[in-house]
Amino acid sequence: MRRQSPALQPQPLPGAEMAARLGRRLGTARAALGLPSRRLAHPGARAQLQPEYDAVVIGAGHNGLVAAAYLQKSGVRTAVLERRHVLGGAAVTEEIIPGFKFSRASYLLSLLRPQIYKDLELQRHGLRLHPRDPYSFTPMLEARSPPRSLLLGHNVAETQRQIAQFSPRDAEVGEHRGGDTPHSWGPGLPVAPVPWVSGLSPPPGLVLGKQLPQSYQVLTAPISKVLDQWFESEPLKATLATDAVIGAMASPHTPGSGYVLLHHVMGELQGQQGAWAYVAGGMGALSHAIACAAAAHGAHIFTEKPVARVLVGANGAACGVALGDGTELRSRLVLSNASPQHTFLQLTPQEQLPPAFVRQVAQLDTRSPVTKINAAVARLPSFLAAPTPRNGRPLPHHQCSVHLNCEDMALLHQAFEDAGQGQPSARPVIELCIPSVLDPSLAPPGCHVVSLFTQYTPYTLAGGRPWGKQEREAYADRVFDCIEAYAPGFKASVVGRDVLTPPDLERVFGLPGGNIFHGAMSLDQLYFARPVPSYAGYRSPVPGLYLCGSGAHPGGGVMGAAGRNAAGVALQDFKQK
Ligand SMILES: Cc1cc2nc3c(=O)[nH]c(=O)nc-3n(C[C@H](O)[C@H](O)[C@H](O)COP(=O)(O)OP(=O)(O)OC[C@H]3O[C@@H](n4cnc5c(N)ncnc54)[C@H](O)[C@@H]3O)c2cc1C
Repeated sequence: MRRQSPALQPQPLPGAEMAARLGRRLGTARAALGLPSRRLAHPGARAQLQPEYDAVVIGAGHNGLVAAAYLQKSGVRTAVLERRHVLGGAAVTEEIIPGFKFSRASYLLSLLRPQIYKDLELQRHGLRLHPRDPYSFTPMLEARSPPRSLLLGHNVAETQRQIAQFSPRDAEVGEHRGGDTPHSWGPGLPVAPVPWVSGLSPPPGLVLGKQLPQSYQVLTAPISKVLDQWFESEPLKATLATDAVIGAMASPHTPGSGYVLLHHVMGELQGQQGAWAYVAGGMGALSHAIACAAAAHGAHIFTEKPVARVLVGANGAACGVALGDGTELRSRLVLSNASPQHTFLQLTPQEQLPPAFVRQVAQLDTRSPVTKINAAVARLPSFLAAPTPRNGRPLPHHQCSVHLNCEDMALLHQAFEDAGQGQPSARPVIELCIPSVLDPSLAPPGCHVVSLFTQYTPYTLAGGRPWGKQEREAYADRVFDCIEAYAPGFKASVVGRDVLTPPDLERVFGLPGGNIFHGAMSLDQLYFARPVPSYAGYRSPVPGLYLCGSGAHPGGGVMGAAGRNAAGVALQDFKQK
């Protein structure tokens, strides 16, 4: 039986006739696509749980799977224990509305370290990408007909023409920067990513190279200040600023917001710096490829195996885990892909941890502004600024990140301010993506999956009120109203929706506070201080217990770096035991 998510709030169809029509269409499409009526077996599913392994990984997020693959590849007998019924953590594909496969949490790939593709032979294990060009579309709400829009892509001349609509001067700035990658249009333009940001090595002992002075301002400044130095047109600045506040309870005017932008442009796909792509089959297909690599080396991977406790021996070192059903597994290494809070405040016996460490973990900033909405639609949105042709075929902008309520920086700041008052933004910042435009396998013919990454929504509403069904639906309606203003007819095209507020993200994915990165990517919680100062090198106060997820350096995003680094550190210790 397929699980029905408690957060899923299917929206009534626009009318009985439409419902009947779509029902027939979806039923046929399901059969035509051969969609499974039950859960797919995952790689390594046939393995039998053993009482003893060399290493146990708690959680099958992409980082846990990466860690397992590297460990097993090095000859360390490894088991991965995932509490959910699917692999991938926040990098997952779920068919939450029949016939529609959603990248339910993360939805775009760029940051995965190239070394990991290579080492784990992810292409051989089935990973396929759909790169996007153009990649960003910002339609305007304005009285003129048609309204203007800003389309950014890899074609330099065309992108300059687009920018020149709003500022000829900004188009020239781009030209002087070389302007051949999305990365080059950003404020980090003259700045190569700082090597220790990209995080394939653990942070301690790093040399601060020549690039540091150049990078320092981008890392520490409010992104608004950096962007103001480069550009003058508001739509361009606001579009670029979205990557600086994504997932952060921060305004473009918040110091340190520059870092988050840098984090989002330091990826590289198929040799193209800063490029982002959809994963064929959704983000879960990436996790699946990593799991295949791990299983091919011999790792055992299990779902629906929640870990209840880390076992600590008389010598004070980790010696295995206990599952929720009481089963105990012995292992010399325990790596936790769960958040630092869950790992150290819930799974680890508290008497094994220094009280100061426990306090620091308890005080981590996990505020998050994100509500993710996944919508199934019966047709492509048609934007006023670039209407869809009658034949319904996608236009280039449909493959982009569509930025809504993004006309100027003041809108972004106001959306943030609302959340500070305990209110979901009146005009939320919306990043709308339609991966099925490039990957039709995700939805029945003619239909699409729409990913809506929205902010700002507080974890708790004004007056300490929790989110209830009514608040959740009201917020989703507000987001849909906003989309309707840019793309009339959108609301009527919606077949179903899945709304994940910060508490839902916490409950479904185990993300503390709903924070998409396991903890804020603020300057005080990065590098040498992630998750806390003195324990930034993946080890913990309990020998043999390691953190291998995004709560560790270099943080969130589908990067795999934390998993790979942690495996390296654990392996060193294993060899010395
Ligand atoms: C809505 C949203 C959108 C995002 N968009 C993007 C994007 O487009 N691109 C991008 O690069 N990043 C994006 N991110 C961030 C990125 O997805 C995460 O930072 C990353 O996937 C985290 O990976 P991880 O392996 O470190 O942890 P997780 O994916 O959180 O995995 C941890 C795993 O541990 C399991 N677990 C926890 N406790 C236990 C236990 N006791 N026993 C067993 N298992 C346990 C969990 O179920 C989970 O599977 C997004 C995140 C969210 C939430």
